[in-house]
Amino acid sequence: MDFTRLTLTELRAALRSGQTTSVAVTEALLERIVAVDNLLNSYLTLTDEMALIQAAEADERRARGEDTPLLGIPVAVKDMICNEGVETSAGSKILEGFIPPYDAFVVARLKQAGAIILGQTNTDEFAMGSSTENSAYLTTRNPWDLERVPGGSSGGSAAAVAGRLAYAALGTDTGGSVRQPASLCGIVGLRPTYGRVSRWGVIAYASSLDQVGPLGRTVADCAALFQVTAGYDPLDSTSIDTPVPDFEAALTGEIDGLRVGVPREYFAEGLDPEVEAAVRAAIEKLADLGADVVEISLPHTHYALPAYYLIAPAEASANLARYDGVRYGPRVPGEDMVDTVKKTRALFGDEVKRRIMMGTYALSAGYYEAYYGRALKARTLIQTDFREAFADVDVIAAPTSPTTAFRLGERTDDPLTMYLSDVLTVPVNLSASCALSVPCGFDQEGLPIGLQLIGNTLAEATILNVAYAYEQATEWHQELKRLEIGD
Ligand code: GLN
Repeated sequence: MDFTRLTLTELRAALRSGQTTSVAVTEALLERIVAVDNLLNSYLTLTDEMALIQAAEADERRARGEDTPLLGIPVAVKDMICNEGVETSAGSKILEGFIPPYDAFVVARLKQAGAIILGQTNTDEFAMGSSTENSAYLTTRNPWDLERVPGGSSGGSAAAVAGRLAYAALGTDTGGSVRQPASLCGIVGLRPTYGRVSRWGVIAYASSLDQVGPLGRTVADCAALFQVTAGYDPLDSTSIDTPVPDFEAALTGEIDGLRVGVPREYFAEGLDPEVEAAVRAAIEKLADLGADVVEISLPHTHYALPAYYLIAPAEASANLARYDGVRYGPRVPGEDMVDTVKKTRALFGDEVKRRIMMGTYALSAGYYEAYYGRALKARTLIQTDFREAFADVDVIAAPTSPTTAFRLGERTDDPLTMYLSDVLTVPVNLSASCALSVPCGFDQEGLPIGLQLIGNTLAEATILNVAYAYEQATEWHQELKRLEIGD
């Protein structure tokens, strides 16, 4: 049996019943990574030796009768998330060789849950991008078509999960970086409510928007990974101290009478007709399953993209000031201190420099009110839109990405077109809601399409259950089992 074709929850059952061992599946995945990842480029750093040690320990613990939620299950972690003793670079030359002295909260939770960490996955530099082409190291490819992007910035995590090089993975979503690559790679990705998952040990991009989220081959797989990473952490001052529900138990598939809002602003110009058709058909399916579908309006949606591209760069310009060649990573020596900082900061890639310049400009005296201040006001309007919508509906259904996976290089010379990839995901980040992407079809070229389900504050269990009901009623997720890369 090819255990790499199992989902995470299927593997968990196989490990519990003794059909296979963690060492066996970890070895199988590591072999597959060696054979296939030269095509996908999903991993930046492999922690193979450590993974095999962890797997042997997991098998020993199981032999002693112990069990933990992810005992012996191999997963991957985006390179924005610190893993103690393992190079964590944020896809940037400015952090080349940086070895974190501690685990991020979410990595510590994975280890406690018994997960095996296979390695750090590729990302756009500092998670700035929508295609993973902004990584300073590698260009990740889409497992469905190697000439296309996997989406970004968690493209390495998405490609690894879709390509069966990990059973699930963690990503970060500041403006769509979990949902958009999940959509483009035909898997499930969840952006939790801001504050649900601790940011401790996650390299900061835009601190008021960043959130760690799971990517999995099925809704249940995402729920299982999310379960172990969610929860209060006093080390993150924005962490929410509230009980964490049992997300897997919430997957009843029962959505009778649930109210689904369809925002007309998310079906606007620029939306690929094939994406629109698949998403509308998915919404009809929800109605067939007993949901009550109503059209709604989120009237300030058009402010979201410009507001995001002021707020995120503004926060990034402050967060990235710390990379001065003194405290982290490499130093390029110059004639004096200022020259050293200048030469070191030249290690940033073009997109990161562009964001730092945009952000610094938006925050500068004389322009602060006109740009940053107004963006914050737009953010409040967008938050109010969602609050008003959720007074009437339980979930909001929309496309995740306006298009399917685009060709490598197609948008690299045109930042604005690249930014438009996020037009349907950034509103959630600016608000206090949560959202996920679940596969809902393929276009004529065989590329996956994602349905976005948006939930109210801390209502992850609700959107996971709606996605589960939809997944159980459709066959799209089965296609992944047939996907062949270099096989
Ligand atoms: N593509 C968006 C950006 O470049 C979102 C990235 C993210 O969510 N990390 O900012």
